[in-house]
Amino acid sequence: MSHFEDLDTPIYVAGHAGLVGGAISRALKARGYTRVIGRTRADLDLEDPAAVRRFFERERPTHVFLAAAKVGGIHANNTYPADFIRSNLLIQLNVVEAAYRAGTRRLMFLGSSCIYPKLARQPIPEDELLAGRLEPTNQPYAVAKIAGIELCDSYNRQYGTDFVSVMPTNLYGPGDNFDLQNAHVIPALMHRFHLAKLAGDSSVTVWGSGKPRREFLHVDDLADACVFLMKGYEGRGIINIGCGEDVAIAELAQTIRDVVGFAGRLEFDASKPDGTPRKLLDVSKLFALGWRPRVRFADGLADVYRWFCAHESDARR
Ligand code: GDP
Repeated sequence: MSHFEDLDTPIYVAGHAGLVGGAISRALKARGYTRVIGRTRADLDLEDPAAVRRFFERERPTHVFLAAAKVGGIHANNTYPADFIRSNLLIQLNVVEAAYRAGTRRLMFLGSSCIYPKLARQPIPEDELLAGRLEPTNQPYAVAKIAGIELCDSYNRQYGTDFVSVMPTNLYGPGDNFDLQNAHVIPALMHRFHLAKLAGDSSVTVWGSGKPRREFLHVDDLADACVFLMKGYEGRGIINIGCGEDVAIAELAQTIRDVVGFAGRLEFDASKPDGTPRKLLDVSKLFALGWRPRVRFADGLADVYRWFCAHESDARR
C-alpha cells in the first residue's frame, strides 16, 4: 500500500490557499494527518523548476495533491490565453517531475470537467476525454490540463510511478470568488441577491434563459472524494468526481434566492450567453467504489452564504 494510513506521513497540498486545495487541507487535518504541507506563492514559486526541486528534496512528501492551477472565467481565459497555458504547463511539469525525483509514492492531479469536449455525450463518461473538439474559449487552459493528465500517465508507464488524475465537476464552497461579473453562477447570484435584499430591490437579473443544467458539488465533498481515492483507488485512468445530479439554472436561482432571503422576482436576461446546455458527469466509476457525496445542496448553499456574510467586505473586492 501507499503508506497513506500513516497519519505522520508528509503530504503536500499544492494550491492549499485555493478553493480546492484549502478544502483538501482541511479534510486531511480533520482526519488526523499531522504533516499537511502548504506553501504560499511568495514562499514557493511553482513555475520555478529549481525551487520546486529543492522544496521536494527537503520535504520529501510521500503524497501530493496537485490542486495548484491558474484558473479563471471566460473573460480571463480570453484575455490572457498565454498566461493560462504557460502557467499551468509549468506548474504541472515542475511538480510531477519533482515528485518523481523525490520518490513521492502517490500524486493526485486535479483536472476539470471543462476539459471534456464541448459536445461530449451526457452524462459525460471518462472515455469522452480527447474524443472531440474543445470549447474554443478555454482551449489553452484545457490543453494544458490534458497535458497534465498525459504527463501523469506517461510517468506511470515509463517510470512506474503512481500518479492518478481526477476530474471534478463544477464546484462551490466557502472561499470562492464572489465577483459580480467574473465569478461562477453560484457566488455571482448569491452576491447579487444579497445586494438586492439589502437595497430592497423588486427583482434580480439572472443571465441567459435559465434552461441550462449544471451539476454542482460542494468542495468538502470533493475533498472527501479526493482523500477517499488517494487511499483506495487502485484502478488506472482518470476518474470523474461529481454528485450525479444536475439542476436547471432557473431552479438554482430560486434556491439561492430562498437561501439569501430575497423576496423579489427573478428576471432572465436572454442577451447573456447560456453556455453549454448541459454539463453532467457520469460518476458510475466513482460510485461503484462506494463513495457518495454527503452535503445536501440547500445546506451547502446555506454554508456558503454564511461564509459570504462573514467575509463580505473582502469578497466585495
Ligand atoms: P459554466 O458551467 O462554465 O457555464 O459556468 P458559469 O457558472 O459561469 O455559468 C453557468 C450557467 O449559469 C450559465 O448558463 C450562465 O449563463 C448562468 N448564469 C446565470 N446568471 C449568472 C451569473 O450571474 N454569473 C454567471 N457566471 N453565470 C450565470
